[in-house]
Amino acid sequence: MGRVIVITTEFVTAWIGRFGDLIQENAAMLTELDSPIGDADHGGNMARGMNAAVPVLADASNLEAQLKGLGMTMLSKVGGTSGPLYGTFFLKAAKELGAQTEVADEVFIHALRAGLDGLVARGKAELGEKTMVDAITPAIETLEAAGDVASGAQAAFDAAAAGRDATTPMLAKKGRASYLGERSIGHQDPGATSATMLFEALAGAVS
Ligand code: ADP
Ligand code: MG
Repeated sequence: MGRVIVITTEFVTAWIGRFGDLIQENAAMLTELDSPIGDADHGGNMARGMNAAVPVLADASNLEAQLKGLGMTMLSKVGGTSGPLYGTFFLKAAKELGAQTEVADEVFIHALRAGLDGLVARGKAELGEKTMVDAITPAIETLEAAGDVASGAQAAFDAAAAGRDATTPMLAKKGRASYLGERSIGHQDPGATSATMLFEALAGAVS
């Protein structure tokens, strides 16, 4: 067992605030990735969503309210395919956390797993189909193996980044990119790229 850290509302505010910053800083790059295999809106979608969501986090009084506010805002403001998927991820995680102001980090990891299960139930993407699932799944598996956020967050970010990079040679089987068939090969998936930033932000919030 590593160090046990407690996940507080301040921690979540810092984590999602950092995620929002990364999305704003990289919005043009995300849209560029969405150009050859999509409709060139992923950066704009995510930037609009996070712009609206970050203030909601600071005002919410417990972990459930924070992630519910984030999920609802992403659902309504991000749009596209990724908005409902990110929305579901955070709404399911919120439900798991409940109206508490702090939880042990193993509870937090369990909530992220519930979020991923909800996202997969909604989007039906399997591993290897060139989506955000290819980045989020290895990251959460890494956190589960570590057992705690303090020692696992950097490795989870590394695992997400490896999953993101592995989407480049994949053939897209879900979403807009799948319409391109073989021509989707050779392009990094935009959703896996934005999802990796969620774990980059987590590692940043821990250190
Ligand atoms: P849209 O494709 O509607 O324009 P975005 O551009 O915002 O939406 O998001 C595209 C991203 O959504 C893709 O890069 C991919 O990671 C993700 N995505 C698409 N379909 C699915 C799915 N069924 N399951 C998981 N992620 C998906
Ligand atoms: Mg798009």
